[in-house]
Amino acid sequence: KKIIIAIDGMSSCGKSTIAKQLAQQLNYIYVDSGAMYRAITLYFLRNNIDIANTTQVKDALQEIELDFRFNEQSEQVEIFLNDENVEYLIREMIVAEKVSEVAALADVRAYAVSQQQKMGGKKGVIMDGRDIGTVVFPHAELKLFMVADNAIRVERRFKELYQKNPNITIEEVAHNIEMRDYIDANREISPLRKAKDAIEIDNTNLTPDEQLQKVLNLANS
Ligand code: C5P
Repeated sequence: KKIIIAIDGMSSCGKSTIAKQLAQQLNYIYVDSGAMYRAITLYFLRNNIDIANTTQVKDALQEIELDFRFNEQSEQVEIFLNDENVEYLIREMIVAEKVSEVAALADVRAYAVSQQQKMGGKKGVIMDGRDIGTVVFPHAELKLFMVADNAIRVERRFKELYQKNPNITIEEVAHNIEMRDYIDANREISPLRKAKDAIEIDNTNLTPDEQLQKVLNLANS
């Protein structure tokens, strides 16, 4: 039986969709590691933390408590920042515009990775992100690396964001995805990479069902 399933890939390539489906099918816990970086970013924005100032960053991290709680109504796991449900706030563009810079900081990564590692090992865990198979759980029993064409990724993310904010433009979404991918793949610490032993899944032309079947076969093999 696989205890840890690591799912990595660029922004909006369907990681969380497959991770949630898998978690449900296998009765595993789903952990959205990106939500942690987003919640930290929200805290930094609210408190005007200067990310060039290491002392300020370190002090701020000491004030942050993150946890994931299951919401019976939505049947989803939601992230709490110092006891406040921020699951929806962290999806806003203002957070998306800053998160990759924040996630590139050594102190922020050390903080997030150590918490992520504590969540593994007990019960089955599926975690998605950028460095799960390479850094957080290098010994994960199954590693997936998701890819999808750029245009498809932009379109999917745009549809998602547009539901909540009809003022958003496709250019804005395309620019944000491109910028985050660039920073995530080129940062010094734990840049986005496919782990050597990860299985690449291109879902550009797969329906959600086809993708789930494919991944379930891998998880059960
Ligand atoms: O997964 P999501 O798109 O919500 O992640 C938001 C951002 O958090 C990413 O663009 C990346 O900068 C950062 N991140 C990271 N490492 C992870 C997960 C997310 O650096 N494991």
